[in-house]
Amino acid sequence: MSLHFSTDERRALEHGLAAGRNDCPRCGGNIDRQTVPQRSDVAYVRDRITVTCIGCGATTVLDRRRIERAPEGP
Ligand SMILES: [Zn+2]
Repeated sequence: MSLHFSTDERRALEHGLAAGRNDCPRCGGNIDRQTVPQRSDVAYVRDRITVTCIGCGATTVLDRRRIERAPEGP
């Protein structure tokens, strides 16, 4: 199985994180979040976070703004 979340799983992660949850859409394990270090020479890297599932090891990078804009609710 791929260690990278699919597009659907990324969407589920964004909605979950926006709602204050941190569970993996693949296995239900806890998600670890780490801010991607900012680089002044590469603007697009800003405001991104790396999310890694402690349970299954799946990982991806999400745009923090997308998380904050994600609608609440199921
Ligand atoms: Zn997982």
